[in-house]
Amino acid sequence: MGSKKRKPLIRHLINTLMAIIILSVGYVCYTIVYDLRVRFINRSELNDLASKNKEYEARFEHFVNDIEKESGWKVRIISGLRSRDEQIQLKRDNPQNAPVNKSRHVLGRAIDINLYKREGIFTIWLKKFSSKASWQKTGVPTIALRYHLLWGGTYKYYHDPVHFEIN
Ligand SMILES: [Zn+2]
Repeated sequence: MGSKKRKPLIRHLINTLMAIIILSVGYVCYTIVYDLRVRFINRSELNDLASKNKEYEARFEHFVNDIEKESGWKVRIISGLRSRDEQIQLKRDNPQNAPVNKSRHVLGRAIDINLYKREGIFTIWLKKFSSKASWQKTGVPTIALRYHLLWGGTYKYYHDPVHFEIN
């Protein structure tokens, strides 16, 4: 009698365990593919910058590498070199954006980045709307100083913590 009752329970436990293993492996694969994709995007953004100025690109590349080595955050470059047309459109969308003759992005002298890290099954992001204090806590603005990059988090009238530029 007892063994008949136990068997379905064991089967149930094995099924649950299998489901957990499959989900975990799936999640790990997903994160690996995601990170590779981000790396690929970062690389192509840096290549675009290099086409404008190799010395500036090298500074941004070291900056990104140092963040990933020292801060525990991963970097996703969301904007690098922009065409004049793209900048004109951005200014139209949001008047707080720089005009085309002032934007460092058009000159290949600026990048916008998001930061992310995983804690368990959660991914934490730092983006444009994140507070200045939370960006400062990552140590990234300090690393930017090392490469003489001006941080958009220090702007007086515009909150732009994703932006780093050579001025
Ligand atoms: Zn920017």
